[in-house]
Amino acid sequence: MTNKNSHIGLYLHIPFCSKKCAYCDFYSAFYSEDTVKKYTSALIKSIEKWGGLINRPIDTIYLGGGTPSLLKENIIPLISAVKSNFVISPDAEITMEINPCKEPEYFLGFAKQAGVNRLSVGIQSGNDSELKILGRTHSCQDAENTLKTARKLGFKNISADIMLGLPYSDFSALKNSIDFIISLEPEHISAYLLKIEENTLFFKEKNRLALPDEDIQAEQYLFLCDELERHGYRHYEISNFCKEGFASRHNTKYWMCEEYLGLGPSAHSFINGKRFYYPRDLAGFIKGNEPVFDSYGGDENEYIMLSLRLDTGISFSLYKKAFGKEFPESCKAQARLFEKAGLIRFFEDGFALTNNGMLVSNSIIAQLENEL
Ligand code: SF4
Repeated sequence: MTNKNSHIGLYLHIPFCSKKCAYCDFYSAFYSEDTVKKYTSALIKSIEKWGGLINRPIDTIYLGGGTPSLLKENIIPLISAVKSNFVISPDAEITMEINPCKEPEYFLGFAKQAGVNRLSVGIQSGNDSELKILGRTHSCQDAENTLKTARKLGFKNISADIMLGLPYSDFSALKNSIDFIISLEPEHISAYLLKIEENTLFFKEKNRLALPDEDIQAEQYLFLCDELERHGYRHYEISNFCKEGFASRHNTKYWMCEEYLGLGPSAHSFINGKRFYYPRDLAGFIKGNEPVFDSYGGDENEYIMLSLRLDTGISFSLYKKAFGKEFPESCKAQARLFEKAGLIRFFEDGFALTNNGMLVSNSIIAQLENEL
């Protein structure tokens, strides 16, 4: 599903955190001003190299992490390097992930100056006791102040993250978190179920954590979907909700099998039909290590797997246009069985998962792929 003339997204990984959260296995190193400076120079060199290698315009830029706000003033030369080495759409979406903190004016000012026009804020919970368990460095008050400051500075497109399935969580804590997030009026909300990953503090302590079982996690997810939909958020992707017109343009590229370039250790790319990534090695990236080939992408399996994450689901006409053949009848028949179980809904040109279907998306996708 690649089109060599279309716009691509650019992902820049900022691998620094001031403290490691108890549940996180994202690639990040401990922050020091000196390493950030060296890393910024390496990233700019990489931007210059790729700008010369691929002649593709960019319409979304996403700074993820780690904690991109730790870039502070370094964000200005970084975005400016992107603008001078690539053709950027005038209406490009430029997102930066940030963590709430006590004095957000400082880095938000630099972000605004650099041209960032969308913020993704790691709020995670509306309960201070849960934030402590998660090992977050902020409080609910910090989250509220950070959003207020961002609004004052003119940010009009803000996303907030919330986590489900937390240790010791009960329904009233979850309701409190959802009410808190809604009260902040973000345009977009991402909701993630806590997964216990290896190499995290939670993994070592998992037997001591009172984690909700799968049934309770499912109840929490369905409750969250209902609450957010009731407050005018469209459930447009398994874990994402937005006010009309505020879906993440960058992340939608991933789910639509569109192309993107990812720079920085652990960043993945999909360009000209090839998937490749930079290893999780900060020192190696600073030295100029090359990315590693992963696989060829964009086939029918990927189309099914990714498009079913979205509420727009699978489109039979898009499938035919992309792969030059009709959507397989056997696959449709299997989807009709899921429809009977309330896990899939059909529409004129395709089908999509229901909220209940999204809970078991992996097994539905695997069974549909078997029919290809
Ligand atoms: S959750 Fe975010 S802030 Fe916490 S360690 Fe992971 S990347 Fe860093």
